[in-house]
Amino acid sequence: MSDIAQSVKQQADIVRVIGEYVRLKKAGAQNYSGLCPFHKEKSPSFSVHAVRQFYHCFGCGVSGDVFSFVGKIENVGFPEAIRIVAQKCGIALPKREYNSPEEARESRQRGKLLELHEQATAWFEEQLRLPEGAVAREYLSGRGLTPEAIGRFRIGFAPDNFNALRERLQGSADVEMLRLSGLFSFKQQEDGSSGSIYSRFRKRITFPIANESGRIIAFTARALDSGDKAGPKYMNSPETPLYSKGQVLFNLDKAKQTIRQHDFAILVEGQMDCISVYLAGVQNVLATSGTAFTEQQVNLLKRFTSKVVVNFDPDTAGANAAEKSIVLLTEEGFEIKVVTLEGGLDPDRYIREKGAPAYIAALRSARRQQDYLIDRARQLFPGRNSESKVKALNFLLPHIRRMPSRLTRDEFAADAAQKLGIDSAVLREELKQAAARRREKVVSPTSGVSQVEKILLRGFCGESGHPVFDTLAAALESEPAQFEGLTVRTALESLLHRGSAQPLESISEGRSRALLAQVLLEETDPVTEQEAQFALENLRLQFLEGRQRALRAAISEAERKGDWGLLTALTAEKLSIDRELRAVGAG
Ligand SMILES: [Zn+2]
Repeated sequence: MSDIAQSVKQQADIVRVIGEYVRLKKAGAQNYSGLCPFHKEKSPSFSVHAVRQFYHCFGCGVSGDVFSFVGKIENVGFPEAIRIVAQKCGIALPKREYNSPEEARESRQRGKLLELHEQATAWFEEQLRLPEGAVAREYLSGRGLTPEAIGRFRIGFAPDNFNALRERLQGSADVEMLRLSGLFSFKQQEDGSSGSIYSRFRKRITFPIANESGRIIAFTARALDSGDKAGPKYMNSPETPLYSKGQVLFNLDKAKQTIRQHDFAILVEGQMDCISVYLAGVQNVLATSGTAFTEQQVNLLKRFTSKVVVNFDPDTAGANAAEKSIVLLTEEGFEIKVVTLEGGLDPDRYIREKGAPAYIAALRSARRQQDYLIDRARQLFPGRNSESKVKALNFLLPHIRRMPSRLTRDEFAADAAQKLGIDSAVLREELKQAAARRREKVVSPTSGVSQVEKILLRGFCGESGHPVFDTLAAALESEPAQFEGLTVRTALESLLHRGSAQPLESISEGRSRALLAQVLLEETDPVTEQEAQFALENLRLQFLEGRQRALRAAISEAERKGDWGLLTALTAEKLSIDRELRAVGAG
């Protein structure tokens, strides 16, 4: 590890950095736990140790230090991870370091694309203030947006012009970079080149889409004209190196603080809904941008809360999107409530027509997920005959099966049975089967591991040159036979030969790694010389006792065969062992 990395690591607070991605709860004097961001789980098996500065997941086995965490979760290389950690912790870096020219190129490219988006946003904002922007301004004020609100969300106007944006940006980037930005359209030429480029968004209101840290990475643009010529009502940036639709939650940058504070988020469909709700004073609101939730979005949200109020449009598409989202969120263990606004209004119109207080009241009256679903089932299959009941039941069962808590499942089932008029015994039978298929609990990785083995593991995590590490290392190298048969034997070998690697990362075998992580979480203090001595004496003792047993058997065998030469040698060895055992009071 470079000096820079080393110094960043010493200054960085791993709990704070990981805490930005995972909701951590204190689980011990110096360790924290939360839901693992790298695999699906309902009960926390992800641990972070504040002093030892590592994380480990007992569910999927990932572990490492603060850089490996950031690298994994942000999907970036080591140098970029260092930069991110330094930035999060306010540590100044001397200069950028890259592993490869490729990495340096990608990082430059991202930087350039962010810069282009920033320039484009500023330019769109400028256009909105010009006389040509009058139509757009009128539209926005008609939707109740004040100039402050427009400025807050950096809403702009893309004029009906093919070339103006390109002319504005071409001094900052070459054509290839402009093409990559997604801000332009182009026609593929016959020779394979992309030909000339022109503005993708024209005569549209532009809503910037920011990433989690507030940098603009894409746009949604709403047509001001309607009709075939105007194209789709909403047009999004295409997928670019900066932007992937399914991975972004609109408004997360502005909402994340409030979401953490209130420990819940409101989910709406469209950007306009989201902006209206936010401006109504409800700031913990996010938009999924028109579609059902993706798994990446759920994982992103899970870092901030596990409670949501879903407020999708009440039309069929909205209801379907709500149901799909509910399915995904339920599987991830979210607590879900559903709001359906009276009069079939979407959040934006509801707030404009009835006012913010009415909307807040509607949020307060949000129904629990199960009540919403039971109502939906009765709405979809309204008959009271047994055929409708079976259909309604089949609609509900998958939802019930996905609920992580046994208690909620039972309660849901009883409710459904009662409201649908179904014999609850039938439902309970179905449920019992669903419950049986649920995942088993994880067995603690340290069960069956002795105190001595735990001391050895911890001791071998120390630094070479330290008396404890050196004593233990010398014992393993000079008396390998004493370590035979230990569960932790191969782990100790890996630790001994790890060089500059982190202890956890030097062990590739999953079970041993989990074991080490557990031991490191249980005990924080470094191994003392007395402990090391105790462990080594204990090993020696066990070894001698084992050897004594083996010698007794070998001696009777030699007597039986009349092999006096062998018998003499074996007896001599046994006597010396007996003496040694007596000396330590174990004879
Ligand atoms: Zn995991």
